[in-house]
Amino acid sequence: MSNFKVSTLCVQEGYTPKNGEPRVLPIYQSTTYKYDSSETVGKLFDLQEDGFFYSRIANPTLDAVEKKIAALEGGVGAMLTSSGQAAVMISVLNICEAGDHIVSSSTIYGGTTNLFGVTLKKFGIDVTFVNPDSSVEELMAAANEHTKLFYAETLANPSLVVTDIEKFAKAAHSKNVPLIIDNTFATPLNCRPFEFGADIVVHSTSKYMDGHAVALGGVIVDSGKFNWNNGKFPALCTPDDSYHGVVYTEHFKEAAYISKARVQLMRDLGAIPSANTAFLLNLGLETLHLRVPRHCENAMAVAKWLEENEKITWVNYPGLPSSPYHTLAKKYMPNGTCGVVSFGVKGGREAAMKFMDSLKLAAIVVHVADARTSVLHPASTTHRQLTDEQLVEAGVGPDLIRMSIGIEDIEDILADIKQALEQI
Ligand SMILES: *Cc1c(COP(=O)(O)O)cnc(C)c1O
Repeated sequence: MSNFKVSTLCVQEGYTPKNGEPRVLPIYQSTTYKYDSSETVGKLFDLQEDGFFYSRIANPTLDAVEKKIAALEGGVGAMLTSSGQAAVMISVLNICEAGDHIVSSSTIYGGTTNLFGVTLKKFGIDVTFVNPDSSVEELMAAANEHTKLFYAETLANPSLVVTDIEKFAKAAHSKNVPLIIDNTFATPLNCRPFEFGADIVVHSTSKYMDGHAVALGGVIVDSGKFNWNNGKFPALCTPDDSYHGVVYTEHFKEAAYISKARVQLMRDLGAIPSANTAFLLNLGLETLHLRVPRHCENAMAVAKWLEENEKITWVNYPGLPSSPYHTLAKKYMPNGTCGVVSFGVKGGREAAMKFMDSLKLAAIVVHVADARTSVLHPASTTHRQLTDEQLVEAGVGPDLIRMSIGIEDIEDILADIKQALEQI
């Protein structure tokens, strides 16, 4: 099906029923699969035959959704995980072990900062955080002989910094290691990182891909383009004793990375979503191409409106010409960026809280990127342990409000913001 345009892939890719089969992707709510001979099961275990045998490794509902997302990103294979965090973790552990090192942009999702800076450190994997605006030379200088990958987010959550993917890819490839890009906020509708040199893409599907705030999940996508046979990745190119001596690059060819992630790490770590969750994700994906442009259009209108308002001190949205990342945004996301806008209100913390409590349509929730407009005040919630001085240092001032613009009518969204600002 892969010659179809992105919109068609969103609706149809991954599941093609045969004569008389259900039109809609079925939920295969089964942990296990029946075979007529033990010999066949043996061959499945030995990876000599393709087929499902246990849903911790693979399941037909998940398989269809994985094929759809792989096609959307232009990759050779994908693997769903139980959360975005699990996707990031497995994407790193698949090529790193104790003693290894990673180079990561410093402006990444808070959960990923903790994963890299605290938890992976306990596993013996070291990280160097770099300013995403660094030069190629500075990025290269952050690597050492143990570096196994570079990592960044297309559009960082929550700072909305736009990563120069080509620059990161150049630095990574000069060190013979892959670039992993978290493409959650942009989605493959607005940016396809493989086209700019990224090697692996990860997503929190809990955001725009699901889009309705009903299904927590993640996905890892393999471009199939990275040459693992360069001496740095023996785990992919030498026999895996835990899998009857399989050599991933020989057995799975260009799908070596994503296959190892599944048959080795998913087998051992088990962070697999349920078939029902994958079905809900698929429902979301079927309208991704309709929702994402609407999110962007509405967010752009809100950002422009806020920029003109005298009670607003600053607006951060990469779609605005005033954004320092506008040029990069136009290059990497010519169709639009995302639905998240952050801004400051005059009067600091007090005014920000009064504004938020006065909103009627927009709800206060700890989530972004679903159909409903929502709002969060980091200083009084996710970052409430910090003092005002520490907040400013963290780039999350006490006046900062983060709004995730939904797909409601823009006039209603703007009217709600207007009446709430009048309450300050
Ligand atoms: C939310 C998010 C994650 C974590 O995903 P979960 O599904 O919540 O585990 C990772 N990266 C980015 C950019 C996110 O926005």
